[in-house]
Amino acid sequence: MANGEKRDYYEILGVHKNASETEIKKAFRKLAIQFHPDKNPGDKEAEEKFKEATEAYEVLSDAQKRAQYDQFGHAGVSGAGGFSGGGFGAGSPFGDIFSDIFGDIFGGGAGRRTQGRRGDDLLYNMEITFEEAAFGCEKKIDIPYAKRCASCNGSGAKPGTDPKICPTCRGAGQVRYQQGFFSVSKTCSQCNGEGKVVDDPCPDCHGKGSVKDSKTLSVKIPGGVETGSRLKLSGEGGQGVKGGPNGDLYVAISVKEHPIFQREDDNVVCEIPISFAQAALGCEIEVPTLDGKVSMKIPEGTQSGKIYRLRGKGIPSLQGYGRGDQLVVVKVETPTNLSGKQKELLEEFAKISGEDAHPMKKGFLDKVMDFLS
Ligand SMILES: [Zn+2]
Ligand SMILES: [Zn+2]
Repeated sequence: MANGEKRDYYEILGVHKNASETEIKKAFRKLAIQFHPDKNPGDKEAEEKFKEATEAYEVLSDAQKRAQYDQFGHAGVSGAGGFSGGGFGAGSPFGDIFSDIFGDIFGGGAGRRTQGRRGDDLLYNMEITFEEAAFGCEKKIDIPYAKRCASCNGSGAKPGTDPKICPTCRGAGQVRYQQGFFSVSKTCSQCNGEGKVVDDPCPDCHGKGSVKDSKTLSVKIPGGVETGSRLKLSGEGGQGVKGGPNGDLYVAISVKEHPIFQREDDNVVCEIPISFAQAALGCEIEVPTLDGKVSMKIPEGTQSGKIYRLRGKGIPSLQGYGRGDQLVVVKVETPTNLSGKQKELLEEFAKISGEDAHPMKKGFLDKVMDFLS
């Protein structure tokens, strides 16, 4: 766009914010057909509209990018810091979009059904530590998948033989039968809709055309992810069958609980207990942070629940804009299991402590008096 603000992606596609994937795809398809450069040669405005719609679709059709866009707007999905910039997925998402959307428009329609089946999408649940989520990490994962059988090249027939046309459906993959007034068609049970059957199965894959295998993938997790974050690795899912495209691999992140840190957005919250004497007299304490220990001064007269902020010691933003803070919540611990001597000293202390030492308590008692009078 030459000037002005970028338009809202939902507005571009003309869909609601809560539109389903199907609605988004449908809306894009309509625009793409209308403004496709092949149909509007030399029309700059159509070309611009086509680009705009493609960009909107690229983001909204990807659950991860869409979530980021919903949360952060255009800033969430542009720039190098987000998911889109890193080493995820193999190749551009446009390959998927165009084969998906245009496959049957520009790519020779009728052949599509017999062009093989898309591989399965796989979901991998990955557990990572709090620190790994904060700073990012690289993990190797083993993905089981069905690999095309090399002996029969996926046909399922014993090497040297060929699959035969299915005698039941005569290769159609579907059989029709009459049910009352209706003519019903259903998938052929002899060939499972493939249209071909194997007489002599391949001994290596037992006629399935695929064998179980696993591959090791290295997955880069960006700093700032949290439980529920999902990464998409395009084309790393199950292998397409008979020339179909591969499925995608989704990695769902769950972050292990940390013994001392909790997360609130990009802030790290940590409760630190101090003794009642430390709170009254002031002290210096050591505070653990994601970057190691720092020392912090607690001023005298600190109350329980007081929150101190350590700037920039939180979680790096997923978008690459700085870091959150660490919030240190001070908990004043009331002493327990006191010895006789300790109790004596506290009683002594109480006796000589007037209202000046407890202004909060005095203030409250005054309010109670007012309230009851
Ligand atoms: Zn085989
Ligand atoms: Zn059949």
